[in-house]
Amino acid sequence: LFVVFEGGDGAGKSTQAARLAEALDAAGETVLRTREPGGTEIGEELRSLVLDHGHGTVDPRTEALIFAAARAAHVEQVILPALAAGHVVVCDRYIDSSVAYQGVGRGLGVEDVLNVNRWATQGLIPHLTVLLDVDAAAGRRRRTVRDAGGADRLEAESDDFHTRNRRAFLDLAAGDPARYLVLDAGQGVDELAGAVLERVRGLRGT
Ligand code: C5P
Repeated sequence: LFVVFEGGDGAGKSTQAARLAEALDAAGETVLRTREPGGTEIGEELRSLVLDHGHGTVDPRTEALIFAAARAAHVEQVILPALAAGHVVVCDRYIDSSVAYQGVGRGLGVEDVLNVNRWATQGLIPHLTVLLDVDAAAGRRRRTVRDAGGADRLEAESDDFHTRNRRAFLDLAAGDPARYLVLDAGQGVDELAGAVLERVRGLRGT
């Protein structure tokens, strides 16, 4: 079972991914919790290549290909082997983030970014994508809280950028409703975790 958390910066993806992984682990599942961009040694290097230079300083196509390269390694080296072993994979971000950030946010186009990523991932699609929907203003407040513990240069992105990203995530979800769980990220952490677990249990048939 392959579950992905998507959503804008500050949506609470890592908190919810951790909660789901804990709950499944407690239920006796073997869970691999991983994140993008990163998840492999080369992926982490590619991640810092883009993020350490700061958003918008690498040209959009290069950025898109670097994220796709990191994703290809992640799928081949980490995700597919775990799925083949019968483990549950819980991942922070996947193709939708590229479609939203590079395809829409950077204007490269949804179809092109999807095509590059379908190729990079060998066509691997999550069984469930949880979209934590957060509006730009709420995301900014949350990021500000998180940034107190460590600088986040991506904070420099405009609300408009985040608003376009949000729309892109929602459009992807609307295009394949059976594969998505869209939740208002403004709800409480426990409430969100409960909704996610219920849906995953449904998929697991437990
Ligand atoms: O998930 P996390 O917040 O750690 O991601 C780091 C940053 O990478 C995000 O803030 C996002 O802006 C950026 N990103 C991106 N394109 C992707 C994935 C992530 O621009 N495809």
